[in-house]
Amino acid sequence: MRKLAQLLETRQISSTEVVEHYLSEITKQEPILNAFITVDAEGALAQARASDLRRQQGMALSPWDGIPIAVKDNISTKGLKTTCASRFLANYVPLFDATVVSTLKNSGLPIVGKTNLDEFAMGSSTEYSAYGVTRNPHDYERVSGGSSGGSAAAVAAGEIPWSLGTDTGGSIRQPASFCGVVGLKPTYGWVSRYGVVALAPSLDQVGPLAKTVEDAAILFSLLAAPDAMDATSADARAFPVPDWDESFIKGLKIGVPEEFFGDGIKPEVERAVTDSLEFLAGQGAELVPISLATNEYAIDTYLTLVTAEASSSLARYDGVRYGVRVPAEDSNTMFAKSRSAGFGSEVKRRIMLGTYVLSARHYGAYYEQAQKVRTLIRQDVLAAFQQVDVIITPTTPSAAFRIGAKQSPLEMYLSDLFTAMANLSGIPALSVPCGKDARGLPLGLQIMGSHFQEELLFKVAYLVEKYVGVEGGTFSDKL
Ligand code: GLN
Repeated sequence: MRKLAQLLETRQISSTEVVEHYLSEITKQEPILNAFITVDAEGALAQARASDLRRQQGMALSPWDGIPIAVKDNISTKGLKTTCASRFLANYVPLFDATVVSTLKNSGLPIVGKTNLDEFAMGSSTEYSAYGVTRNPHDYERVSGGSSGGSAAAVAAGEIPWSLGTDTGGSIRQPASFCGVVGLKPTYGWVSRYGVVALAPSLDQVGPLAKTVEDAAILFSLLAAPDAMDATSADARAFPVPDWDESFIKGLKIGVPEEFFGDGIKPEVERAVTDSLEFLAGQGAELVPISLATNEYAIDTYLTLVTAEASSSLARYDGVRYGVRVPAEDSNTMFAKSRSAGFGSEVKRRIMLGTYVLSARHYGAYYEQAQKVRTLIRQDVLAAFQQVDVIITPTTPSAAFRIGAKQSPLEMYLSDLFTAMANLSGIPALSVPCGKDARGLPLGLQIMGSHFQEELLFKVAYLVEKYVGVEGGTFSDKL
């Protein structure tokens, strides 16, 4: 992005031209990809013209002023439809911007549109979107992953240089891995959740997706900030883009957890990750075999908590305040009819499961128990970081699967096998491309670090990227 920023700065290219380029890519590719739910061409061009004017007057809001972005459609955008890929919110237009959206606007980034996701971010493939699946740019018969599948596919296909996603159990990292882009789930609390439609507030985080590690770091440097509007926001600390000095790798201890390799993992995935690990060892890192035994409980714990929190978060969709309303003779019937009409089946399933685990008779056996196991998982992870600096695993057990391949919800839930742990313990985790399988599908590697260790994650990822290369290059490379 630095090159594009420099071309904008020296006015060799205008933001209008950049936005027009991406809009034409969108027009060309959307009929197949379906990465966007809403494209705001007019709004983006108006923002681009405003950026060009600022550049002319030497009043750029940031070095990135004029570089367009796309935002996942569960993040509120004032005056621009925010559907959460649900019929319930098909016509919902927020009256305010999420803090992260204000941040983008205050940095001068034109928002080109809202990207597709699984309904209310529940899923791993965008197949649960009420607006159809997003196809994988590397193979149109396959999913782009989810729930931030639109954000990942749009970046991978060159429809947009970077995007925002959200990650509750893996929703940034898994699609990043499936589409061959970089995605970060930040430390819980470092990025504001204000205005982000809640799935599970104790797990949700907003994060960047981009083609390169540096671009993801740049976008994260804009997002990482305290916010008085978010009670779970961390204390003030900035994130400066790293200097990419490589000497840090000498003696860096990389934990390799045995539970994330072997059984159940596609050999090609394992080989690609192991290759990168050996490369890093060759650069001077020390590979330390470790155990994260509690990962065995991560999916069950995650599902118990995510459904519980979702049933509570989604209680607000009652047909009264916004969204679908099916009129009925009394208010309870109206609630029931509106919710039945507005929600898709996965959302209903999670609301029912969540209500069950929170119910008076079962609370102790499920919700409370899951909270205790969550604490054990967190302790397990933090103990590992007494021993090692970062932990490297595959991001997902396999490459992108075929559309329609996972018919049972349980099978779909297993997509989060390696990613949910980071959300449960609040630590940052990043997915970076680490190669391809025999079909040419991208594979991703996950780097986890202790709280607020994003800089280290980016620096390790930068080396992996140097090793495997950036596929297809970026728009500005071609200028
Ligand atoms: N696949 C996970 C789920 O369905 C992830 C969701 C997310 O991170 N938003 O719950």
